[in-house]
Amino acid sequence: MTTRAQASHTYDAIVVGSGISGGWAAKVLTEGGLRTLVLERGRPVEHIKDYPTANLAPWELPHGNRATAQDAADSPIQSKLYLYGQDSKHFLVKDVEHPYNQVKPFQWFRGYHVGGRSLLWARHCFRWSDLDFTANAREGVGIDWPIRYADIAPWYDVVERFIGVSGENAGLPQLPDGQLLPPFEMNCVEAHLKSRLPQVFTDRVLIASRCHVSDFFERRQMAGMLDCSGRRRSFERLPRFLGDEEVARHRDCGNCHHYRLQS
Ligand SMILES: Cc1cc2nc3c(=O)[nH]c(=O)nc-3n(C[C@H](O)[C@H](O)[C@H](O)COP(=O)(O)OP(=O)(O)OC[C@H]3O[C@@H](n4cnc5c(N)ncnc54)[C@H](O)[C@@H]3O)c2cc1C
Repeated sequence: MTTRAQASHTYDAIVVGSGISGGWAAKVLTEGGLRTLVLERGRPVEHIKDYPTANLAPWELPHGNRATAQDAADSPIQSKLYLYGQDSKHFLVKDVEHPYNQVKPFQWFRGYHVGGRSLLWARHCFRWSDLDFTANAREGVGIDWPIRYADIAPWYDVVERFIGVSGENAGLPQLPDGQLLPPFEMNCVEAHLKSRLPQVFTDRVLIASRCHVSDFFERRQMAGMLDCSGRRRSFERLPRFLGDEEVARHRDCGNCHHYRLQS
C-alpha cells in the first residue's frame, strides 16, 4: 500500500454495525472530528429510494399485507412478528438464511441493512430509572451494574433533544422526566379515564405515552396523513429514526466512511 493509500485507509475509530447504536456512535465520533469507519454487514439503504412500500395504500399491498405460506416457510420465527407483512418483510432477514440455536425459546428479529432495526422499531422512547438499573442487584441476579440512572440521564437529555420525543413529564419514579415535546392530546374517553382513575386507585396514573416524532412524521402530519393522534396511515412502511438517514448525512461530512461487509 502506498503512503497515500495507507493514510486514506487509516481511521481513528471503527464502528461495527449501523443501527441505532452504531449510527449514534458514528455521529458522535464524526462530530468530534474523528475519522470514522462504519462497517455494515447488510445491504445499503438509500433514503427514500429504498422504501419500496412507503407510499403504497393498504389495498395496494399484495396478499392483503399478510405473510404468505412461503413467507412462513422462509421465516417461521420472524413472520410471527406483529408488524411482519408485505410492507415490512424486506427489512427483516429470512430465518432460513440466518439460523441460530435456541437453547431456550428465543425469538430474534433482525434487520441486516444500513440502519438495522431503526427501520423497524415502534418509536416508543422510555427512560430507564434506577428501579431498572438496580433491579438485578436487588433480585440477586448476575452482577451489579457499574452504572446508575444518574450516569445515563445527561445522555438521555442529548438524545431526546436531538430526535424529538413527545410525552408527559409526570414525575414518576419508574419513568424519569425528560426533555419532551408536548404530548399527544388525549381523546375525550382517555381524558375522562385519566381524571377518574385517581378517584378509584391511589397507585395508578394514566399518562400520554412517549414516542419519537421525526420531521418526516410531522411533515406527514401536516399533510393530513393521520388517521388518529398516534398512528399514521402507512405506519409500517415509513423510515424510522436516524439509522440510515444519519449514516447518509455523516457519510458526506468528510469524516465518516461507510463500507458494506460481504457476508
Ligand atoms: C418490530 C420492533 C419494534 C421495536 N420497537 C421498539 C420501541 O418502540 N422502542 C424501543 O426502544 N425499542 C424498540 N425495538 C428495539 C430496537 O429497535 C432495538 O433495540 C434497536 O434498534 C437496536 O439497535 P442496535 O443498533 O443495537 O442494533 P441493530 O439495529 O440490530 O443494528 C445492528 C447492525 O449491525 C449490523 N451487524 C450485525 N452484525 C454485524 C457484523 N458482524 N459486522 C457488521 N455489521 C453487523 C446489522 O446488519 C445491523 O445493521 C423494536 C424492535 C423491533 C424489531
